[in-house]
Amino acid sequence: MPGSSTVAVHADRDVHPSHAVARPIYQTAAFWAEDAEQFAGAAVDPRGQAFYTRYGNPNHAQVAAVVAELEHTEAAMVTASGMAALTTAVLALVSAGDHVIGQKSTYGGTASVLLNLLPRWGVSITQVDQADPAAFERALTPKTRLILLESPSNPLLQITDLRAIADLAHAHGVLTMADNTFATPLNQRPADLGIDVVWHSATKYLNGHSDVSAGVLAGPAQILDQIWDVALLTGATLGPFDAWLLLRGLRTLPLRLPRHNANGQALAEALNHHPAVARVHYPGLPSHPHHTVAASQMSGFGGVLGIELAGGFDAAEAFLSRLHYPRRSASLGGVESLAVHPAAMWRGMLSEDQITASGVPAGLVRLAAGTEDTADLVADALAAADATLATGDTALASAHP
Ligand SMILES: *Cc1c(COP(=O)(O)O)cnc(C)c1O
Repeated sequence: MPGSSTVAVHADRDVHPSHAVARPIYQTAAFWAEDAEQFAGAAVDPRGQAFYTRYGNPNHAQVAAVVAELEHTEAAMVTASGMAALTTAVLALVSAGDHVIGQKSTYGGTASVLLNLLPRWGVSITQVDQADPAAFERALTPKTRLILLESPSNPLLQITDLRAIADLAHAHGVLTMADNTFATPLNQRPADLGIDVVWHSATKYLNGHSDVSAGVLAGPAQILDQIWDVALLTGATLGPFDAWLLLRGLRTLPLRLPRHNANGQALAEALNHHPAVARVHYPGLPSHPHHTVAASQMSGFGGVLGIELAGGFDAAEAFLSRLHYPRRSASLGGVESLAVHPAAMWRGMLSEDQITASGVPAGLVRLAAGTEDTADLVADALAAADATLATGDTALASAHP
């Protein structure tokens, strides 16, 4: 079995081979056929490669070949965004009358699918504490069809015991899907732990350069064929050029991830005992409440950490505005460090009560470490924390209304 770095460079070698060393971009909406037979065959080829780009495109198939081999799954497919991957899969796998279990700590878009979209389609949902496998068991009903998992979760870096939940689900004939965006297949392979379908916001680490919105799904061909049938109807098709950029990003994922992991770990250790910081949420810290489970299923802990400032909302604003390298942005997984203050971002969208109910502390800053030099990021973050402490939160809050 070749290693991940080799897979990332060679897994698509036989998918639309040509003598061009870099893959050509198939910037076309449609493909022509020699005769009626070839035309009909292309139309029914699952995640097809040469019929009509909404059905599939060689650049999609090349990305899928790499993702499937990295994730240790039989098949993979691409979508126009991470949310397109999730929504298309859920629409394909559940029907009115079914029940879906999700996590309380989960990406905002996923929470919205659970809370706002599924109930309108007659699907009931339960959200549970992901750290407690017994909570999943209690939530099961005879109508439960699907469990949506995310580990580590966004933005609190909570951990789910993926093998325990997969075993539970299989014992009850329930499907599992795991959002592997924060870990990537380099740090964690949910399929090896028994998860049925793995999905990603490929916008983040898989592409890695903050220049593409994309999603991927990976799993058994039989399930992906079902999802592909619905993808033809939802039409969230990734453009060929974006697929080509994603393939280019994937080539270097195994080179980028170790730096993200090292930067995340170093920042977490440097800030964990700083007096301006109440606590650092990072699964690679032995003090993380789920560190043992994280260490058993992950080989690295990623570049994202939650820094909870002791001074609450104002201190978080003060700290974030003093960071030099990480700029304020909601994304993550690119080569550049980015940071966001979730409570400030949600102020316009959610009530104070809803923010509190989400379990995200008002003083939390989510820092997504890029691939800059570790020493530079650590010095920058420590200087911002020192200054936050020295100036006092109130003075700073008035300087940054
Ligand atoms: C960004 C993100 C998504 C959504 O992906 P898009 O590509 O923005 O649609 C889903 N899950 C997690 C964990 C994310 O960080």
